[in-house]
Amino acid sequence: MDFKLSDEQELFVAGVRELMERENWESYFVECDEKHEYPIRWVKELAELGIDTMLLPEEHGGMDAGMVTLTAIWAELGRHGAPTYVLYQLPGFSTILRHGTQEQIDKIFALRGTGEQMWNSAITEPSAGSDVGSLKTTYTRKNGKVYLNGQKCFITSSAHCPYLVVMARDAASESPVFSEWFVDMSKSGIKLNQLDKLGLRMDSCCEIVFDNVELEEKDLFGVEGNGFNRVKEEFDAERFLVACTNYGIALCAFEDAAKYANQRVQFGQAIGRTQLIQEKFAHMAIKLNSMKNMLFETAWKCDNGTMTSGDSAMCKYFCANASFFVVDTAMQVLGGIGVTGHRVGRFWRDLRIDRLSGGSDEMQILTLGRAVLKQYR
Ligand SMILES: Cc1cc2nc3c(=O)[nH]c(=O)nc-3n(C[C@H](O)[C@H](O)[C@H](O)COP(=O)(O)OP(=O)(O)OC[C@H]3O[C@@H](n4cnc5c(N)ncnc54)[C@H](O)[C@@H]3O)c2cc1C
Repeated sequence: MDFKLSDEQELFVAGVRELMERENWESYFVECDEKHEYPIRWVKELAELGIDTMLLPEEHGGMDAGMVTLTAIWAELGRHGAPTYVLYQLPGFSTILRHGTQEQIDKIFALRGTGEQMWNSAITEPSAGSDVGSLKTTYTRKNGKVYLNGQKCFITSSAHCPYLVVMARDAASESPVFSEWFVDMSKSGIKLNQLDKLGLRMDSCCEIVFDNVELEEKDLFGVEGNGFNRVKEEFDAERFLVACTNYGIALCAFEDAAKYANQRVQFGQAIGRTQLIQEKFAHMAIKLNSMKNMLFETAWKCDNGTMTSGDSAMCKYFCANASFFVVDTAMQVLGGIGVTGHRVGRFWRDLRIDRLSGGSDEMQILTLGRAVLKQYR
């Protein structure tokens, strides 16, 4: 397998590097993190480089760039301390194109190039976390309309997205029928309560109540009864993206710590000259190299149509945990400054959440275990 990027990919990565080095984005990220604000100015600049539509086919104004290119871009952004977690929804353009009606596509595509948040999936409920099949939100048909009732929780981006794709069960069916509805968040009957998260603070996360929200048949998203099959595909892509984000910030923390270890003098020598500190860098380098190889191999599989749910679960589990080790170790190397306002503190908080959101560590292990054994049936 050839891991070398093409000239075109190298050029794309160089463009991103130039954007990240053009100004001190870190102070902007600190401000957004403190205020729990979406970093719109930064995302808009990325959108101007075409990153929001990089996965779309060329006939839809995209670059058809593929996941290997995306992995390289995410690594470069992460390496500069950027919150690539706010970009999870960008592949949403491709999802809408595959499953949406023309009207839904037009609404979402109107946001191309703006950097604005657009839509997200709302599945989780207070009593349905890992066990998504136990969700209770319903849709009911009455007098030619459809009414949505129920409660969702931990829904990312929902404070500012104009649309949500909400999973619900058909109230009229005795056997479970799960379908998704494309909901305009300005409709009446929708109440939001924003949650205060430990990390990933540049994106919102809300509890949402849907109280008799009136929809039309045309608001059905995808095929009725196919909700879970549709989101399964989304879970795989999301898990892979989380893993790419994790790798990028681990790389950033590692480089910050390496520069510090080479210049911080204690007991008359740079701390990087002591064997205990060198051992930490050896273990961090092993984790980083393993993550990089796993991610590029999986991206290559994705571009060649052979990525499985087991592959994305493996990436998410391994990268969330390996990155947490790297960032935590980098924090140790940085000593007091690592826990008093340095960006590794933000990475540490962000990573802790990634071991739960998008499917917990335990769920990744269960998915991976099943996928591995399936190959030998
Ligand atoms: C910040 C954040 C953002 C999120 N964004 C979204 C979003 O945009 N849209 C959305 O729909 N959801 C979202 N989620 C929901 C997320 O996917 C769920 O939180 C996650 O799946 C876990 O559900 P839970 O918190 O209810 O935990 P539970 O399912 O109650 O699990 C609690 C613990 O028990 C473990 N556990 C559960 N079942 C088993 C089992 N069978 N075997 C072993 N261990 C088990 C879990 O791994 C976990 O450690 C988000 C969550 C967070 C925290």
